[in-house]
Amino acid sequence: MSETFGFTVAATDGKARTGVISTPRGEIRTPAFMPVGTAATVKAMMPESVAATGADILLGNTYHLMLRPTAERIDRLGGLHRFMNWDKPILTDSGGFQVMSLTALRKLNEDGVRFKSHIDGSEHWLTPERSMEIQRLLGSDIVMCFDECPALPATEAEVAKSMRLSMRWAQRSRDAFGDRPGHALFGIMQGGVTQELREESAGALKAIGFDGYAIGGLAVGEGQEAMFGVLDYAPGTLPEDKPRYLMGVGKPDDIVGAVVRGVDMMDCVLPSRSGRTGQAWTRRGQVNIKNARHQDDPRPLDEDCTCPACRNYSRAYLHHVFRAQEIISSMLLTWHNLHYYQELMAGLRAAISEGRLSDFVAAFEAQRAEGDIEPLTLT
Ligand SMILES: [Zn+2]
Repeated sequence: MSETFGFTVAATDGKARTGVISTPRGEIRTPAFMPVGTAATVKAMMPESVAATGADILLGNTYHLMLRPTAERIDRLGGLHRFMNWDKPILTDSGGFQVMSLTALRKLNEDGVRFKSHIDGSEHWLTPERSMEIQRLLGSDIVMCFDECPALPATEAEVAKSMRLSMRWAQRSRDAFGDRPGHALFGIMQGGVTQELREESAGALKAIGFDGYAIGGLAVGEGQEAMFGVLDYAPGTLPEDKPRYLMGVGKPDDIVGAVVRGVDMMDCVLPSRSGRTGQAWTRRGQVNIKNARHQDDPRPLDEDCTCPACRNYSRAYLHHVFRAQEIISSMLLTWHNLHYYQELMAGLRAAISEGRLSDFVAAFEAQRAEGDIEPLTLT
């Protein structure tokens, strides 16, 4: 196992890359999808089950953990890995995005953000220095810079002002992070959908120097076309020898489109959140298990899937336990969704290393276009 943090690109196909991020806690195969463990758990999943789906790394949320149970308590209990029983790498976000999106009562200035907890109304300060301290107490392997993501809609002038504040905070994050061998600090590019601002942001981050670079401020309601428009150039403005992480993305077709454009890492709550609302993601698109057409269907959710939900249970059963609001419904659908996402990533990695990514993408799109399997005809 590696003593230090590193990244090696093993193969490329067009702009897409496949490789390995090495950390003292294990290797992360890229392109990588990171399930989200907001409150020190991937909801409805045991950590060993998350690992069994093929995940090499999880994401934890600074904002949620700092409020409950607090970073200091997690530190006293041996750090986040031990606390949640996950010994592979963990990436933590900086808290910035959630402060902006979850708390109406906040006050922003050059120093940082003052906000009130959505749990109990208590008042907190989050600054680049405090965010670095929290992520160090958690024991995060990949630490994210503290940044501001402006609320949409925003004018170009507002996006520019916010991006420049985030770049000053990136320097403060770098200074506060210090020298921590085996741990990585990632900078976050901002700039909305304006190419000049994105390029300015990339230049500022490269001048500071980071172990990896995230593309932030996308998947916030701009739509897939606008997001792909930014991804057509943004990864190319970042260093080739460092991982590129697209934050908060996304649906399976967003992921495929991002990988084709040169993204190495992604995270999203979608597969786990949809699993709790009766939505399954399959190679033939989205299936709504609460639909009455499934109530007599003895076939699995996806005949080609090897996850426990598909191997051992019928659509009729999955429909029943969802309708009956049984806990196993969230467990099985979340497991299936995470399994499908990790299988998609494995397929992308293999296709890139074998130089057949365009065929893989064509097959992915053709299968989705076929749609879900035909309703069973009962005679
Ligand atoms: Zn399955």
